[in-house]
Amino acid sequence: MTRRRVEAVIGAIEGGHAVTYSSGQSAAMALIHCIKPRRIYLNAGYQGVQFAFKLYTERQNIEDEKVQLLTLEQCKEIYDSEKKELRIDTAQTGACLAIDSTLSSPLGLRPLEHGAHVVMHSSTKYLAGHSDVLGGVLIVHSSLSDMLPCTLLQERTTDGAVMGNFETWLLQRSMRTFSLRVRRQCQTALIIVQWLEKQRAAGYKVMKIHHPSLESHSSYSLAVRYLRLLPATFSFELQSESQAKSFARSLLLCAHATSLGGVETLVDWIYSYNTSISPTLLRVSIGVEEPEDIIQDFEQALKQAE
Ligand SMILES: *Cc1c(COP(=O)(O)O)cnc(C)c1O
Repeated sequence: MTRRRVEAVIGAIEGGHAVTYSSGQSAAMALIHCIKPRRIYLNAGYQGVQFAFKLYTERQNIEDEKVQLLTLEQCKEIYDSEKKELRIDTAQTGACLAIDSTLSSPLGLRPLEHGAHVVMHSSTKYLAGHSDVLGGVLIVHSSLSDMLPCTLLQERTTDGAVMGNFETWLLQRSMRTFSLRVRRQCQTALIIVQWLEKQRAAGYKVMKIHHPSLESHSSYSLAVRYLRLLPATFSFELQSESQAKSFARSLLLCAHATSLGGVETLVDWIYSYNTSISPTLLRVSIGVEEPEDIIQDFEQALKQAE
């Protein structure tokens, strides 16, 4: 009952049929197992999902070169040339456009309105919003196929990737504050980005800020066109590895931790566990604290950053 309610709420918000899973990872894998693609085009995204898709292709004996990481433009070109044939229910032909929309949240973007077939969320992040519960959701476009949600539901039962009852209840409870939390988080993020931008302009330790509200961001024009609310997760770079490391460690109000989308502001020095990311970079997930309090904490941490 609770599960069906949560799925009805999330489905309504995204504009499709929602199916919940035990995690974002299992939602992504469920889609792959259901669609059984011959080729997967991945625009660089969440590393865990990338690894999972690679593993899938290895197990299915699909040659490795067919799993390609492409640019957004390349993805679009291939998608435009193949999308007309998409049939999932009977013949499994054509291209399926699936969007991991975790970071923008349904308040920022509703991909099904822009032609996506399936949307995926790690509900561990903004949907549940309290960094205390794992979960994932797939939302399928209503017009795509009546079969797909049914197949997903059947396979979820046989594969056992069901969201736990308590987690489902927590997610349902969280959805009641979803709009309040995320709107506030996105608004505060803009204030913090502006503050960081001021430090950068003054030549004070901040070298670069990666947020689509800034014209310097590579997705600025896409964001202007598509996003109704700019993301509350972004990153910025300091002058050196040691500055970034010491900034993260000097925070008093904000936590130095991985994950994102929760009510507490988290700052993550990603290089400590992923050396493909610049050592000067810090990822910030803005919470629901007072913007002035976050600024005060960032100010003192920046002072200590040497
Ligand atoms: C966290 C995350 C995932 C994986 O979700 P889990 O619930 O942790 O399994 C996938 N995509 C994005 C963008 C994420 O942030």
